[in-house]
Amino acid sequence: MTATGHHRSSVDGTEVDARAAAFLSAGTIPHVIEGERRMSRVGGERPIMNPSTGNQIGVVADGDADDLDDAVRSARAAFEDGRWRLLAPREKEERLHRLADLIAEQREVTGDLDGLDAGIVRKYASFVSQASINALRYYAGWPTKISGHMPPVGPDYTVTERIEPIGVMGVIKPWNGPAAFFNQVAPALAAGNSVVLKPAEHTPLTATYMALLALEAGIPPGVLNVVHGAGAVGSALVAHPGVNRLSFTGSVNTGRALAAAAAQTFKKVNIELGGKSPVVVFPDADLDLAASTAAGSVWNNSGQVCTAGSRTLVHRDIYDDFLERAVKVSENLTVGHAFDEAVDLGPLITPQQRDKVRSYVDIGRAEGATVRLAGGAPDSGGNFQAPVIFADVDMSMRVAREEIFGPVMSVIPFDTEDQAYRIANDTEFGLAAGVFTRDIARVERAADVLDAGTVWINCYQVLDAAVSFGGAKYSGYGRSLGSPALEEYTRRKSVWSRRYR
Ligand code: ADP
Repeated sequence: MTATGHHRSSVDGTEVDARAAAFLSAGTIPHVIEGERRMSRVGGERPIMNPSTGNQIGVVADGDADDLDDAVRSARAAFEDGRWRLLAPREKEERLHRLADLIAEQREVTGDLDGLDAGIVRKYASFVSQASINALRYYAGWPTKISGHMPPVGPDYTVTERIEPIGVMGVIKPWNGPAAFFNQVAPALAAGNSVVLKPAEHTPLTATYMALLALEAGIPPGVLNVVHGAGAVGSALVAHPGVNRLSFTGSVNTGRALAAAAAQTFKKVNIELGGKSPVVVFPDADLDLAASTAAGSVWNNSGQVCTAGSRTLVHRDIYDDFLERAVKVSENLTVGHAFDEAVDLGPLITPQQRDKVRSYVDIGRAEGATVRLAGGAPDSGGNFQAPVIFADVDMSMRVAREEIFGPVMSVIPFDTEDQAYRIANDTEFGLAAGVFTRDIARVERAADVLDAGTVWINCYQVLDAAVSFGGAKYSGYGRSLGSPALEEYTRRKSVWSRRYR
């Protein structure tokens, strides 16, 4: 028993909440379709790996187009009979809050599950689950407030512009923060839609666990379905004529293929892709804050975060000073097993991802960047990579242009404010940008000029369910969170009615 009173059990040599262990050891992690735990029709399965050890920790159902079709049919039937859509708004609110309560009560379990298959470290695990709790609470407030309006058209007609749910939403998620998927799913549910969720193939655990919690909270069967599988299940979801709208978070190449495929059936897509986000540090900045925030943004989740501030643009007057501070806050970080309380950087998701990150370290050296920090990685079965800081980077280098998705920080010098913004915008991505300065006029100029979906001033990676988030350029389109996400998950219908006198 722990201080909080829950039993502990061992999984792959780690003590975890007994409920997480029981979930894993109960057998194949199932799809959740029509409120039932289902195996794949043809019996496909896939091992679940622990990125901290390289060991297999369980087995998940591996679906195909038929399983996906079952899930879409279930979601469609739920939508059409109105078991969720037509529920009183206040009842929807209560159930979404109940789900938030259940996740909050079981945050240790979901944090453990994210630690086991996604390698999310202790320090970050509750933050990931908290994102879902926050999204559910924020959107729980909406069912009673989504209202249409009546445009004035003169005396002959009454026009009601209704806001309606769209139908079945397909949601495809990546592996880098699995428990946060209610960021996309909560607004879809609040609007009255049904959902088919496809988690990333590497990280099936929290999606399944939370979908089962949703049933317990009174979200009716069929309203939130989970189908496991790799890209083929994702493509089947995109192509399925019974799916009305899509939300995709992932890589640029997959996003591009997906947008083209979605166009065949005229599905609108919300697309959230990667970034190569600039953090611009001016000479008047609080340098300690700038160095720890900029570096922290690249070490956070071992760099596997789409908003990582992986290009740090630093004015030449403070360049050396900044680098010294960035190295100082980074050189003693602990890299290792996600469940070690002291660990700052956990494993990368797969050995392939670690090899890819290491290849960028070689590329940066070969391109002539100066290595200011290159810590060794623990020599064990996990996919570890210690922080790397490259100095003297310029925009001709691949380490300045390509998203690495690992703990590699590229520091680029600049001389003038205009030059800083030119470099900042000289990227195909446009997810986020950061600025560190005490000059209030510069704050306004930076916010005007930076070509990104989010601009953080003297802070970075702060999010709130009330504030919309999304990309510009190759970072995607559409907004998640806040009231703009509800627009994405609803449609308008204008009803004209002749007035009889
Ligand atoms: P990464 O794995 O680098 O985050 P991907 O874009 O490959 O990026 O994966 C994100 C999600 O998209 C995963 O759930 C994956 O299974 C899914 N996916 C991969 N290929 C396709 C595809 N062609 N169509 C739809 N979804 C896909």
